[in-house]
Amino acid sequence: MLGVLRDEGALSRVALGERLELPRARLAAELGRLIDDGLVEVGGPAASRGGRRSTLVHLADDLRVIGIDVGATSITAAVTDGRCEVLASASEECDVRLGPVEVLRRARELAARTAARAPGRLIGAGIGLPGPVSFRDGMPVAPPIMPGWDRYPVRDELASALGCPVTVDNDVNVMALGERHAGVARSLDDLIFVKVGTGIGCGIVLGGRVYRGVAGTAGDIGHVRLDDFGPPCACGEVGCLEAYFGGAALARDGLTLARTGRSPVLAETLAATGSLTARDVGTAAASGDFAAASLVREGGRRLGQVVASLVSFLNPGMVVIGGGVSRLGHALLAEVRSAVYRRSLPLATGNLPIVLSELGDDAGVIGAAWSATERAFTSPA
Ligand SMILES: [Zn+2]
Repeated sequence: MLGVLRDEGALSRVALGERLELPRARLAAELGRLIDDGLVEVGGPAASRGGRRSTLVHLADDLRVIGIDVGATSITAAVTDGRCEVLASASEECDVRLGPVEVLRRARELAARTAARAPGRLIGAGIGLPGPVSFRDGMPVAPPIMPGWDRYPVRDELASALGCPVTVDNDVNVMALGERHAGVARSLDDLIFVKVGTGIGCGIVLGGRVYRGVAGTAGDIGHVRLDDFGPPCACGEVGCLEAYFGGAALARDGLTLARTGRSPVLAETLAATGSLTARDVGTAAASGDFAAASLVREGGRRLGQVVASLVSFLNPGMVVIGGGVSRLGHALLAEVRSAVYRRSLPLATGNLPIVLSELGDDAGVIGAAWSATERAFTSPA
């Protein structure tokens, strides 16, 4: 019942009963209990149907959920209401390599400062981490870019610090959930969310649930090998998708273009700032710099190659592309689309939107909050 009120907002008693297929007496008993617990409130009268007056019920206004998104280089925290609508949010730079003690301390402080801007009754918190996570155990497992985090009890530590149930998941999974709850993939049961940031990963939603795999590494497409003789990857292998495309690879290739003089725009940026980022490459490409635009096209083509395989394999209802590098925008999207439509079966792509994330940086915190409500609403305190 709480999940329905979260996803659909205020409903009349009649509509709620129909939606849950509950007999009237049972509905009244359940509602009474949730109202006593302060989780549900009764609002004004709803439009009458068939002459019978019905009252609106909705999640209590003072319910609060914390969503935290830990990226490789930043933390974002948001406080939402029970419907996962963001009431306040804040971000700060933070290197995940500082280790769990320091990063979680800063995440808690950021969350506390954010929560103070929208006070209420905290019912749950969710956190996304940039590496493989055991959802069941609430901890990261052998995350490649997070030294010191392996099997650190993130869920239990946060739960005791915040005094509420906590869920821990991979950052891409929570972004996929965010898009499904509040973004471009609203209410779609089968979708893939491809994050192109510092690294590349994929969140898989099947039948309305995140598919995590046996060890929580499902969707780790950044290390799909494209070429046995390709460039070295941070994971120790060669020719991975991430070694060609993604924030680090774009910055590296942009630097080569600047130094060899093939990109006048990037050479100018390098001279002015002393370094180059993926965003600089995007800006140069958008300004018409030929070499930078070729880099983006080439990366998009390789990403599209991998996404085409996923589409053939999973037959999703939508592909959403998000993460920092997705700011490259339509040039990137065009390449991915053309690779997927060219390589996949027409039956799989005939009705397949490939779109950019609508939520941007909020996808992770909204999805983390949504995941937290899933737990809080199944076993309310
Ligand atoms: Zn790799």
